Amino acid sequence: MRCPFCRHADSRVVDSREVDEGQAIRRRRSCASCGRRFTTSETMVLAVVKRSGVTEQFSRDKVVSGVRRACQGRPVDDDALQQLAQRVEESIRSAGLAEIPSHEVGLAILGPLRELDGVAYLRFASVYRSFSSVEDFEKEIADLREAMAGAAAQKDSDQREDGD
Ligand SMILES: [Zn+2]
Repeated sequence: MRCPFCRHADSRVVDSREVDEGQAIRRRRSCASCGRRFTTSETMVLAVVKRSGVTEQFSRDKVVSGVRRACQGRPVDDDALQQLAQRVEESIRSAGLAEIPSHEVGLAILGPLRELDGVAYLRFASVYRSFSSVEDFEKEIADLREAMAGAAAQKDSDQREDGD
């Protein structure tokens, strides 16, 4: 890694620490020539294997743009999309694999998206799971209702616990 100040090729690591819950390492370096300090960051490259067999680097931006399409006209702002993409990346990285098939990225999106917005979730799921009939939607909506009822009940009991 060349020094960003003087372009010298040699530097010494003076400190390194894990960030993002161990998913990245940040190193503080000191240039062997000018002595100035700079920081580098190291993350494991996460490759997504497409159905065609082509691999590409995982990108949060791609998650965001894919989900944004499903969120058109919905009250979901950019912050929420960024947070969702971060959760997707964390859940994928937590598996500790260097390569994952692209459909697992879609799978990792479904859970957080369902919490975020039911309509956007149905749109996304209909494409991702290639719904082909009204029944597919009906079944998914039934599951969604159940999940939402479960979440609401959980919230109620949390509030009750808070009240005690
Ligand atoms: Zn330097």
